Amino acid sequence: MTDPALDLQEQKMQFIYALRSKGVIDQRVLAAMERMDRGHFVRGTFEERAYEDTPLPIACGQTISQPSVVGLMTQALEVGPRDKVLEVGTGSGYQAAILSLLARRVYTIERHRRLVRETQALFQRLDLTNVTAMAGDGSFGLPDQAPFDRIIVTAAAEDPPGPLLAQLKIGGIMIVPVGQSDAVQSLIKVTRNDDGFDYEELRPVRFVPLLEGLGKEA
Ligand code: SAM
Repeated sequence: MTDPALDLQEQKMQFIYALRSKGVIDQRVLAAMERMDRGHFVRGTFEERAYEDTPLPIACGQTISQPSVVGLMTQALEVGPRDKVLEVGTGSGYQAAILSLLARRVYTIERHRRLVRETQALFQRLDLTNVTAMAGDGSFGLPDQAPFDRIIVTAAAEDPPGPLLAQLKIGGIMIVPVGQSDAVQSLIKVTRNDDGFDYEELRPVRFVPLLEGLGKEA
């Protein structure tokens, strides 16, 4: 008979192995992803698939992203322990929870109130005190807390949203998937310098659309 505890441990080892084999090599990112159990962020019948390298459905018709994509985006963000980070697209809260282990302060915005409520409760249960989830249209950013050292968008925009570019510090980095929602999109790394912005295309990705400019949550 399979020892269920050992089975879970094996699944978690496979999880980290899959991250490494897909190019997540930053030790801080790997350690954070090993520590932040994805099982907390997947509910119902999908719980038993929490350690597969695949996106999974969550409430409100949304998804928790594929772990290796979360790892690669986090790695590209180059988060330091003194950074203030904004995430747009809280979803399950998984990406924000990983960022909370790497950054000084994390704010995450989600347009579905139900997802925000569930995430707030989970952050409290996990005792994550440096991350705040709030409801709203994240395409406007969070002017009250700007500027940010790092911004990560986990839904696909047609272009990097202007308000988010404006809220990025000089020297700051933004990671954002760009492209049409029904096509393969490109993950873009935007770096703000003294004169403007540098854009680097990282890899093809597939995300749900960033609903922009609605000005209100669902
Ligand atoms: N980062 C999430 C995680 O770790 O589970 C996955 C995010 S999911 C792929 C994209 C999320 O972006 C969805 O929950 C969606 O509701 C949200 N979203 C789309 N447009 C938005 C907007 N304008 N403002 C805030 N959230 C938005």
